Amino acid sequence: MLSVIIPAYNEELSVERAYYTISEILQNAGIVNEIIFVDDGSTDRTYETIKALAEKEKNIHGLHFSRNFGKEAAISAGLASAQGDAVVVIDCDLQHPPEKIVEMYRRWEEGYEIVEGIKAARGKESRLYGFAAKQFYSIISALVGFDMSNASDFKLLDRKVVDILNRIPERKGFFRAISFWVGFRKTTVEFEVRERMEGETKWSAGGLLKYAVSNISAYSTAPMQIVTVLGVMMLIITAIFSVWALVDKIRGIALEGMTTVIIILIFIGSIMMISLGIIGYYVARIYDEIKGRPKYIVSSSCRSGEEVK
Ligand code: UDP
Ligand code: MG
Repeated sequence: MLSVIIPAYNEELSVERAYYTISEILQNAGIVNEIIFVDDGSTDRTYETIKALAEKEKNIHGLHFSRNFGKEAAISAGLASAQGDAVVVIDCDLQHPPEKIVEMYRRWEEGYEIVEGIKAARGKESRLYGFAAKQFYSIISALVGFDMSNASDFKLLDRKVVDILNRIPERKGFFRAISFWVGFRKTTVEFEVRERMEGETKWSAGGLLKYAVSNISAYSTAPMQIVTVLGVMMLIITAIFSVWALVDKIRGIALEGMTTVIIILIFIGSIMMISLGIIGYYVARIYDEIKGRPKYIVSSSCRSGEEVK
């Protein structure tokens, strides 16, 4: 059986279409499936729509979060409740073409354990966004050691991989990268990103920046090491300046250079503050992880009367 996980946040307009499109494609391909909608604490009627759909149609499993926990959490919840031998994660807005699920499934049948959906072309996005995304992915790619520039959350995972992901306790995982990190036999399937049909994107610029910082720090402590490097650099500069100042003192021509002193003071002050900020960020992450709170809270769930065989 194939489990299809669909994270949905304020997607009341897309839920039905997503279900009918995907289940028809899978049925025609003869793939036994269950469709798991994870409602990420929507404030509209997304969950009601899912529930009504589950009463009417079969093979639907709906989960509802007590609040918005983010797409990563929604994916985790889907993975935890999926029962399939293979699991596919796909966006609710059908920007990931559902026909590709069949292609991914066939590759899985050939023995691949992870089938990555790779963006052949990014959908319409502004230049600035494109540039920022490129920078982010080049950093993440360097950290993870794989080219992730066209990676997406659209992927198929074998049961073995799902079981492993379910056992990773990290609260702030990064689904896109972790599936590279785990290894396994993988292959890729290219797809074109479609335009969103209903509603609008759930991302804001600030949200994306937070997402980028959080994911980079999840894979690297390099920023903390940069602090050390900066410290050493400052020490070397200080040594040079000290010799200079001492020589001036001995020659009796000191007291000049107030400006230099001020600039250096401000410079050191700023570096210290930035450094403390970076360290503070990691401490906060450690604190967050150590509290061991759940990644998400499921407040209600529903299932089609007719259970999957
Ligand atoms: N999503 C979610 N929780 C969130 C934000 C988004 O579950 O906090 C879901 C959303 O419903 C959609 C998918 O994640 O199914 C991708 O979101 P969106 O289309 O807004 O992002 P984009 O395609 O613009 O990257
Ligand atoms: Mg989208």
